[in-house]
Amino acid sequence: MLSHNVIKELTNIVGKDNIQTSKEDLICYSYDATNQKFLPDAVVFPKNVSEISLILKMANSEGFPVVPRGAGSGFSGGSLPVEGGVIVSLERMNKILKIDADNLIAIVEPGAVTGELQWEVEDLGLFYPPDPSSLKFCTIGGNVAECAGGPSAVKYGVTKDYVLGLEVVLPTGEVINTGTQTIKGVVGYDLTKLMVGSEGTLGIVTKIILKLLPLPEATKTMLAVFSDMRDAAAAVSRIISLKIIPSALEFMDKESISCVEEYSSIGLPADVEALLLIEVDGAKELIEKQAESVKKICLDSRAREVRIAGDKKEAKKLWQIRRAISPSLAKLKPNKINEDIVVPRNKIPEAIIGIREIAKKYSLTNANFGHAGDGNIHVNIMIDKTDRGEVARAEEGVKEIFKLVIDLGGTISGEHGIGIFKMSYIGMELSKPAIDVMKKIKQVLDPKGILNPGKIFPE
Ligand SMILES: Cc1cc2nc3c(=O)[nH]c(=O)nc-3n(C[C@H](O)[C@H](O)[C@H](O)COP(=O)(O)OP(=O)(O)OC[C@H]3O[C@@H](n4cnc5c(N)ncnc54)[C@H](O)[C@@H]3O)c2cc1C
Repeated sequence: MLSHNVIKELTNIVGKDNIQTSKEDLICYSYDATNQKFLPDAVVFPKNVSEISLILKMANSEGFPVVPRGAGSGFSGGSLPVEGGVIVSLERMNKILKIDADNLIAIVEPGAVTGELQWEVEDLGLFYPPDPSSLKFCTIGGNVAECAGGPSAVKYGVTKDYVLGLEVVLPTGEVINTGTQTIKGVVGYDLTKLMVGSEGTLGIVTKIILKLLPLPEATKTMLAVFSDMRDAAAAVSRIISLKIIPSALEFMDKESISCVEEYSSIGLPADVEALLLIEVDGAKELIEKQAESVKKICLDSRAREVRIAGDKKEAKKLWQIRRAISPSLAKLKPNKINEDIVVPRNKIPEAIIGIREIAKKYSLTNANFGHAGDGNIHVNIMIDKTDRGEVARAEEGVKEIFKLVIDLGGTISGEHGIGIFKMSYIGMELSKPAIDVMKKIKQVLDPKGILNPGKIFPE
């Protein structure tokens, strides 16, 4: 509970129109995409770095938690105020401050929506590749905090590959600038990389310098249908080993395909084991050739059928199949445990077979899809939360899946972060000394533990 004086001081900092304390307003900021709810004591909407600095200084002197929040689309509970306190919503700091076409950079405020930045730079013939599926509503600040990525990661990398520099308010209220506006820059430790992916626990990002690329001339989209998942995996390996790096290489398993078909009657054959959605981009003549090579590789890998989109409209239709998976899974069970594991690309069949065996062992409903090009598989365990037995079996199953993934040389999270949901598993992947170093970094930057407490590290 915040004291009357603290509320008064916060109101002085942000102005009376930019603070909310009524229950109905607080409820709107009590959840994210995980379906969990924790009520904050207040939500503030600062408009600049100085206001955020004052809020954090006050949090240190008064001892209340502060939780940064972008669009609240996170899948790991990072923006949830698990210990109450003040939500700092970055939604008013949403400007694209500069697009510098000569130097191929953009400077943005953290609340800028990812898709809006992409569309603005595209109008100038430029390209900001990181493309989380949530890009129509998630923010660049949230992307930086989670190091978000999407289908284009296979060719273009993830958010960390585009962040050149940051302005950050440290938990103590001091403001620092990290990195540079140039591609090169090696002065001192790389604090930019430390901040990216720190899940809002080491500082509040208030300005971001991003690298841009020239917009590829054209794209070509294809869908390949396989009767055997191993053939699809072999096609993925062959495409990459022939040095064709697609701009997207997405995979759907049998269960995902049948859910999509029931949900939207696209005309996918019922007895299919795997689909690959493949996109290549670049100069027009080059991608025509690459598309033909990819088609041949898929057919040589025993694809039953390869559809190449003739124009943008057809390409959009093929992408609709991929985008329909997530909503269509709801027909299986009302609740979803959505894990974003990653394995080396050539271990995908082994991972899927292992995950299916684990699901069978614990009588769980499971569907898998994701980014085959970079080994990032979205493992969905569909459950009914009111069935306690099923929930307990799912927890056991998830733990076993993580063990399998680590044994295969992979990682338990490629995109969504640890937040509160994977806290109890980080010791499976990281050694104690590595976790201790991370905790010491947190302690140095946030000695009073006021910024986003209760995240990443289990008690
Ligand atoms: C339908 C759907 C599809 C998704 N698809 C993808 C996907 O393809 N790839 C992917 O990577 N993720 C995906 N996500 C997850 C989510 O969109 C990303 O993690 C995204 O980066 C979160 O952005 P946000 O603005 O919603 O941040 P929030 O959810 O508000 O916050 C996420 C974390 O960032 C911190 N934070 C927010 N702003 C700041 C700031 N300015 N400074 C410091 N910390 C901050 C918060 O404290 C929190 O820890 C998806 C989510 C949904 C709902």
